Amino acid sequence: MSYDPNNIFATILKGDMPCHKVYEDETALVMMDIFPQSKGHTLVIPKAASRNLLDADPAALSALMPLVQRVAQAVKAATNADGVRLAQFNEAPAGQTVFHLHFHLIPVYEGVALGA
Ligand code: 5GP
Repeated sequence: MSYDPNNIFATILKGDMPCHKVYEDETALVMMDIFPQSKGHTLVIPKAASRNLLDADPAALSALMPLVQRVAQAVKAATNADGVRLAQFNEAPAGQTVFHLHFHLIPVYEGVALGA
C-alpha cells in the first residue's frame, strides 16, 4: 500500500486544516483527537510521510519514541488519569482509519470504559 499525500493528517500538517495543537517541533505534531475515546485522548503524528509502522523509517521511529514518552507523561499529569494506553494501528483490518503514521495516547480512568 502506498502513502496518500492527501490524507487528513497530511492536510493538517500542511496547515490546510485546523486542529487542537498541543505541541509541535521539526519532527512531529501533537494534537487532541477529534473523537476522543476518553478525556485527554492525544495523537502524536510524525511529520515524515509514512503510511504506518510497516513502512516507517527505523531511525525516525527511534528518534520519535522519547517524544511519545514525554506526551504520555504529560497526558497523565494533565488529566490525573489512572493510566495511559498507547495504541497504534496498521492497515484497515487492524483498525487504522487515517493512513498517516500516528500514535494514540489515551488516558484511562479506573471504572470508566473507553469510549463512554
Ligand atoms: P486510527 O487511524 O488509528 O484508527 O485513528 C485515527 C484517529 O484520528 C481517530 O481516533 C480519529 O478520531 C482521529 N481523527 C480523524 N480525523 C481527525 C481530524 O480531522 N482531526 C483530529 N484531531 N483527529 C482526527
